[in-house]
Amino acid sequence: MSERKRIYLDNSATTMVAKEVVEKMLPYYTERYGNPSSLHSFGGEVKEDFKKAREILAESINAAPAEIIMTSGGSESNNLAIKGVAYSYKKKGNHIITSKIEHPSVLRTCEALEKEGFKVTYLGVDKEGFVSLEELEKAIGKNTILVSIMHANNEVGTIQDLDSIGELCRKRKVLLHSDTVQSYTKVPLDVKKTSIDLISMNSHKIHGPKGVGALYVRQGVKLKRLIDGGGQERRMRAGTENVPGVIGFAKAVELARPEHITEMARLRDKLIEGILREVPKTRLNGPKENRLCNNANISFSYIEGEALLAKLDMDGIAVSSGSACSALTLEPSHVLMALRLPREALAAPLRFSLSRYTSESEVDYTIERVKKAVSELRRISPLK
Ligand SMILES: *Cc1c(COP(=O)(O)O)cnc(C)c1O
Repeated sequence: MSERKRIYLDNSATTMVAKEVVEKMLPYYTERYGNPSSLHSFGGEVKEDFKKAREILAESINAAPAEIIMTSGGSESNNLAIKGVAYSYKKKGNHIITSKIEHPSVLRTCEALEKEGFKVTYLGVDKEGFVSLEELEKAIGKNTILVSIMHANNEVGTIQDLDSIGELCRKRKVLLHSDTVQSYTKVPLDVKKTSIDLISMNSHKIHGPKGVGALYVRQGVKLKRLIDGGGQERRMRAGTENVPGVIGFAKAVELARPEHITEMARLRDKLIEGILREVPKTRLNGPKENRLCNNANISFSYIEGEALLAKLDMDGIAVSSGSACSALTLEPSHVLMALRLPREALAAPLRFSLSRYTSESEVDYTIERVKKAVSELRRISPLK
């Protein structure tokens, strides 16, 4: 029996852990399993390695190691950034500004704060998913303490202009947080060049292990911790360090190369152009310029997204309809709703997200199978 072809194009949901990352992590489960807080040699050797990993993460955004707090992932980093600032600065003000296209770990956090009396403005975006600087400026008031705008959107790949947003926030003396989970290692960010105060990152979207993340907190920014206990992470986040996870995360960061970005963007364009050319009645969602190098989001008229997803899955091709978090609700995603797409585009949007392991032949095969699947579904579709 020939082995079934399997093509993974859902790298915005999670990624394969790189072999080098697994190899780097393994000794920290078996031989170097000490607790970094212990005073004996088992603790000491691990403490050194853990310190190095933190340095690698800090260096990746040109920050100081003391400005990095390790967390359990992007969701925790977003919670800690937003709630941490809200609780620390509530005497100064109770207003937070975010956008309508944020990840649920930002949106639900803001909603939770609203129930506690904070006021939140959810900025709309234009048809390509960009936040308007003028609208942001208008929304900032004397009670505003925090702006939280994601760097790159996980569904349609829009990359926001963080430099300009940061400049505005600095001028108006409000803190800026950004969820950079999708852009991390794909869109360079330097905290010495961009005026930004808090940055959420995670490991499992960049070929590292799941359940590991980090939060950059600019020196001087106050943050109320969410997890009380021991004195780890400069008392900002209690709990025995996830040593293997953090070591693996740092290795994943080291493995990321600028060449990967160019190659992913080339294959992304090939995929987008191929599908739009070969399949009639399709449209690209999200921006043409300033688009994440691995994101293609395409709507197919007259069919249902779930049906197409299932058909491609039978061909061994894994893609996503909307985002993983809304895949169970069958409602149009909040991101596509915010883009105010025409009705037919909301029916069958599929997200293809590439990785540096995606090959040209996989892209070619995907175009061919999408063409076939769509034409079969349209033949039997009651929607046309
Ligand atoms: C995946 C993702 C998160 C959540 O990260 P976890 O590590 O899975 O908690 C947050 N924001 C964005 C934009 C994401 O894509």
